[in-house]
Amino acid sequence: MATEKIAVTRATFDEVILPVYAPAQFVPVKGKGSRVWDQQGKEYIDFSGGIAVTALGHCHPALVEALKTQGEILWHTSNVFTNEPALRLASKLIAATFADRVFFANSGAEANEAAFKLARYYASKRHSPYKSKIIAFHNGFHGRTLFTVSVGGQPKYSDGFGPKPADIVHVPFNDLDAVKAVIDDHTCAIVVEPIQGEGGVLPATVEFMQGLRKLCDENQALLVLDEVQCGMGRSGKLFAYEYYGIKPDILTTAKALGGGFPVSAMLTTHEIAAVMAPGVHGTTYGGNPLACAVAEAALDIINTPAVLEGVESRRQQLVSALNAIDDRLDVFQVIRGKGLLIGAALKPQYAGKARDILNAAAAEGVMVLNAGPNVVRFAPSLVIEPRDIEEGMARFAHALERVVAVSL
Ligand SMILES: *Cc1c(COP(=O)(O)O)cnc(C)c1O
Repeated sequence: MATEKIAVTRATFDEVILPVYAPAQFVPVKGKGSRVWDQQGKEYIDFSGGIAVTALGHCHPALVEALKTQGEILWHTSNVFTNEPALRLASKLIAATFADRVFFANSGAEANEAAFKLARYYASKRHSPYKSKIIAFHNGFHGRTLFTVSVGGQPKYSDGFGPKPADIVHVPFNDLDAVKAVIDDHTCAIVVEPIQGEGGVLPATVEFMQGLRKLCDENQALLVLDEVQCGMGRSGKLFAYEYYGIKPDILTTAKALGGGFPVSAMLTTHEIAAVMAPGVHGTTYGGNPLACAVAEAALDIINTPAVLEGVESRRQQLVSALNAIDDRLDVFQVIRGKGLLIGAALKPQYAGKARDILNAAAAEGVMVLNAGPNVVRFAPSLVIEPRDIEEGMARFAHALERVVAVSL
C-alpha cells in the first residue's frame, strides 16, 4: 500500500514542528544542481547549499547512484558489525589527511562531542584527571548538544538549559595574547574553527593558527579543529588547515561530507586514538553503510584537482559580482571568507538587515544565508555553473535594490 500523501504547506510548519526555526515562506520540493523549485513551481538559484552541505549541488548523479546502489544492498548493521563502505571511507579520509583513525557519527555536533570527550579522556589517561580545561572562542559554533553548545562562544545558545559543563574558557578569536593569558598545565584542548562560519564568516589568521599549534605543544594540549563547515573542499583545499602549515590533533567534519546525507567524522592520530577502548564511546548509526557509501562518492569527487581548483574561480566570479553590486548600492563593509564560504558584512546603516535581505532574495528567486544579523553568507555548491552564479547574482542585486529602497 502506498503511503497516503496528505496536503502540507508552509502553514503546516507552524502547526506541527517545534518552533526552533523560522524557515522561509516557500517549501522547496525539488532540486537539481544549483536550482531548486518550490511547491508553486517557482525556481530558485541556490547559494545556500543547505548551509554548506550540498557541496555537489542537488541530486548529483554520482551521489544518487551511490545511494540507490547501496540502498539495494545494505542500509544498516550498527557498530556491533562493521561494514565495507565505512572502512573504505575511513581509508580514503586517512589517505587524504593528517589522520590515522576515524570515528563516524551523524552530525557535526556529534563529531564535536566525540572530539571534546576524546580530548578530555586523553588528558585524563595520559596526564591527569584535572587536565580538563578547554579553551574556545567568542562567536565560535560547534553544535547544539549541551557540551558542544557550551564550548560554542555564544552564551545565548547555552543559557537556560541548566548547569553547563564546567572548565570551558572563551577568549576573543584571532587574539593569541588572550589565549596565552589563559592556557596552562590544566588545559586539555584548544577548540577552533579555522574559518568561523556561524560567527560571521571570519577566517583565522596564519599567525593565530600557528600560534595555537605552538601553545598546544608547549602545554601538552590538543589542537581540535572544527571543520564541520569549512572542510570538505569548501575553502578550496580539502581541509582548511592545509592553508596554515600546521596539523591538528583532532579534526571534525560533517556538513559537506555526505553531500546532503547526514554523516560526520572525527579524525585523529593513532597515538591519541590509542587511549580509547571498546565501550568508551559509541553511536548506533555512526558509520552506517548507506551514509558512508554516499560520503565515499562525495569525497571521490570533491577530492580532485578539477573540483578543488574550480572553487577559486567560482569565488572570484561571485565576489566580483558582489563588488559590482556594492559599487552601485554601497551596502557592504567588507566581503570576506575563503573559497566558497563567503560573508558580505553589512554597513552600519544596514545593521540587523541580513534576514530582510534573505527574504527579499527568496522573493527574487535566489537562496542565500545569513551568519548573524549583519552578515549575508554564501555557501553554494562547489561545482555551481558559472551561468547560475551570473543569474543568481542578478536576482540578488534586485533583492538588495528593494531592501535599499525601503531603508532609505
Ligand atoms: C553546523 C556546524 C556544527 C554543527 O553541526 P550539526 O550537524 O548541525 O550538528 C558544528 N560546527 C560548525 C563549525 C558548524 O558550522
